[in-house]
Amino acid sequence: MDLIVKNVRRVAAPDADPADIAVADGGIVAIGSSLSGARETYDAGGRFACAGLIETHIHLDKSRIIDRCQLPEGRRVNPVTTVAPLKPAMTVEDIYARAEATLRECLVNGATRMRTQVEIDPGIGLRGFEAIRALADAYRWAIDIEPCVFPQDGLTNYPGTEELLVEALKAGAPVLGAAPRYDSDPAAQIDRIFALAREFDVDLDLHLDVGDSTDHMDIRQVLDLTERCRRGGRVVVGHMAKLSLMPPHQSAAMARRLADAGIAVTVLPATDLYLMGRDRDHDVRRGVADANHLHEHGVTCSLSSNNILNPATPYGDCSLIRIANLHANVLQVVGAQRLRELFLMLSEHSARLLNLADYGLEIGKPADIVVIDATTPEQAVAEIRPPLAVWKRGRRTVTRQPPELHVPA
Ligand SMILES: [Zn+2]
Repeated sequence: MDLIVKNVRRVAAPDADPADIAVADGGIVAIGSSLSGARETYDAGGRFACAGLIETHIHLDKSRIIDRCQLPEGRRVNPVTTVAPLKPAMTVEDIYARAEATLRECLVNGATRMRTQVEIDPGIGLRGFEAIRALADAYRWAIDIEPCVFPQDGLTNYPGTEELLVEALKAGAPVLGAAPRYDSDPAAQIDRIFALAREFDVDLDLHLDVGDSTDHMDIRQVLDLTERCRRGGRVVVGHMAKLSLMPPHQSAAMARRLADAGIAVTVLPATDLYLMGRDRDHDVRRGVADANHLHEHGVTCSLSSNNILNPATPYGDCSLIRIANLHANVLQVVGAQRLRELFLMLSEHSARLLNLADYGLEIGKPADIVVIDATTPEQAVAEIRPPLAVWKRGRRTVTRQPPELHVPA
């Protein structure tokens, strides 16, 4: 045996007595009591563990550029037109270095899997894709990274973008994204993206429905195409901030349609808090979709960081647990059960959203184990408790020492 994590509660059954998890050859081989005889033993002291936190939606390639960007004047902001002029000067090395710095923060905050959005267009070419693929190879010891290639600056209005996207898909990009809000013809972009997804048989993960009114919602077209193209279970929509503008009976009806169609939702609280409500100078709306409400109506949901230190989200420390806590504050979440759900939207539910079949603290699964400094998931979210130890396929990748208070003798 290579490793035994002793005295640990599992996120799927945090109320059960702590158990021991045994690991050999990178996989979980036994879960029981009083296991012994391993090369490495870690006593979790009754804390709980999950099979790793999952960033389902982050932009490594454009993280850490806030210092290069002009400060916005006034309330109106457009992160896309702020970043676009910087892209031609971004080299593979520059993208790699910034993405790596962000990735390392994600690792110490407990991420073991990630889907990262990668911008493709004539301004940046395939340099972002190249950098992220190199980074994924270099950090395979710590995390599985899946790139989602997409046209941030528009598809139908930006000649050359589609050819580059096709090149990335031919080179093996496993997921295709979209950003119809920044296209001069949003509906045409969505049609084209679904056609490409069918042609290359890839999953879809679209930025959708950020804005200050529900007069038009792209989700209606996405629902229709998902059903017509039989893509249920393979479509994720990120943001969905406009759901926060609807009264509960309307958002509940929309949630049930999403659940029936097999469309999952990633809520991105930090970005939506920063970008929504820019039409107002007081009484600014919060603009974050309620993930607990969506979950209640059967939608598979995750919470993610989205952007770190760029014009769409100038702040962030890559702590997913902080993002769950932020959601709890903004949505005025009450009760242990709902807080527990929010933790599952960083872990088990996120795995379902990404269709990860090999995720979980179970015998036969890879030994991705993250011990959190809390006895329950709800405590972790309420108090933003950090991960203390992380293993990827049975190998220790992170150790975090709790701070020490030096009380006078
Ligand atoms: Zn995004």
